[in-house]
Amino acid sequence: MNISFDNTENAFAYKSDKDLKGAKFLFNTMGYPWFVQIGTRLTPFIMKTGLPVDGIIRKTIFKQFVGGETLEETAAIGSILGKYGVQVILDYGVEGKQGEANFDHATEVFIRVINYAATQTNIPFISIKVTGLARFGLLQTLNEAPRLRSGIHDHEEEIDEWDRVRERMYTICEVAAEKNIGVLIDAEETWIQDPVDRLTMEMMEIFNKSKVIVYNTIQLYRHDRLHFLHISHQIAKQKGFKLGMKLVRGAYMEKERERAYDKGYESPIQATKEDTDRDYNDSVTYCLENIEDISVIIASHNDESNLKAAEMMDRHGIPHNHPHVHFSQLFGMSDNITFNLAKEGFNVSKYLPFGPIRDVIPYMMRRAQENSSVSGQTGRELSLIKKELKRRKNA
Ligand SMILES: Cc1cc2nc3c(=O)[nH]c(=O)nc-3n(C[C@H](O)[C@H](O)[C@H](O)COP(=O)(O)OP(=O)(O)OC[C@H]3O[C@@H](n4cnc5c(N)ncnc54)[C@H](O)[C@@H]3O)c2cc1C
Repeated sequence: MNISFDNTENAFAYKSDKDLKGAKFLFNTMGYPWFVQIGTRLTPFIMKTGLPVDGIIRKTIFKQFVGGETLEETAAIGSILGKYGVQVILDYGVEGKQGEANFDHATEVFIRVINYAATQTNIPFISIKVTGLARFGLLQTLNEAPRLRSGIHDHEEEIDEWDRVRERMYTICEVAAEKNIGVLIDAEETWIQDPVDRLTMEMMEIFNKSKVIVYNTIQLYRHDRLHFLHISHQIAKQKGFKLGMKLVRGAYMEKERERAYDKGYESPIQATKEDTDRDYNDSVTYCLENIEDISVIIASHNDESNLKAAEMMDRHGIPHNHPHVHFSQLFGMSDNITFNLAKEGFNVSKYLPFGPIRDVIPYMMRRAQENSSVSGQTGRELSLIKKELKRRKNA
């Protein structure tokens, strides 16, 4: 294997000069931490006031990180990615909508997305947030109850409410199994994650008997998650199902630390970035060493983690297109990894969210924070874009 994540010609072949210049402008802007800080605080508020800012958002951050406002609008991007051997994880990215009617509507949308994915050749997965199907407060109550349901025993209506969440999830997974589309269940805040994990394990036990349909997500910025991976694997072996695991570092670090500090409990976050990196890479190794039982999605923009995983596959003689190993990056980020992996025949996808602009604001704000110069990602993206623009100019 002769892979280089520095090859910007492969990375940006699908982008016009105009697209690249637009991306350069955006990443340049996100390089100013004060701008990102003010922007992420003010944008949700400005959107609520009804001021006409949709246009500017649509042309900048939305264009870079989101596939469109509707499922149909994602088709154009999906087909361009497909031309380069890149797959798609479709994500109905609407967040923060509460109420039973909204949860039922989201279930219908997920089923529509699965049916659509089944008609495409390069959409093997959809992604789901349980907070799109369940009241946040209910998840929080269940999280605080160490044993399933014990925290809601006194409230009949909450038992029914949780049953409805399970039914929604079951219906989605059932259709996905029928259509052979994988369901990736996102990891969210630690204070609601426990019921999400339990529900996901329950679905895996039902639907992952012969092949992997349902995937849980572990955030390796948590210091307890490598252990959780081992335990999940043990449970899967005991109960006779295959484990689906998406590995991420985690998107809510500041929020987690702040809450732990405010409430006076030990932070669930690793002490250092190096600890996160170590557990991330160890998790990848563990999954690849147990490839018969575990199907893994290496969801990361970290060059080293991706390279190590690819090299390890070669060392272990695992074919690049092994059905149990997928790589994935968010749409709008790390094209250098995605397109160079695709060129070497690895299973690699872009995580492509869609939804009305107003409803995908939280997702876009997380991307802005992740790409602010504080995290270092902006520098990486910007230097690759500049390198490619220069290469094209001299070509
Ligand atoms: C396909 C896909 C699906 C995703 N799904 C989810 C999901 O379900 N849930 C979710 O939370 N996120 C999800 N993410 C987002 C993901 O968590 C972030 O993109 C990721 O954390 C960025 O890290 P990286 O692996 O790209 O590597 P890097 O850029 O090398 O690492 C940055 C990350 O390291 C961690 N980190 C940074 N500084 C420190 C520190 N001082 N101490 C400890 N840790 C530190 C943080 O997690 C930070 O985001 C997903 C990403 C992808 C690509």
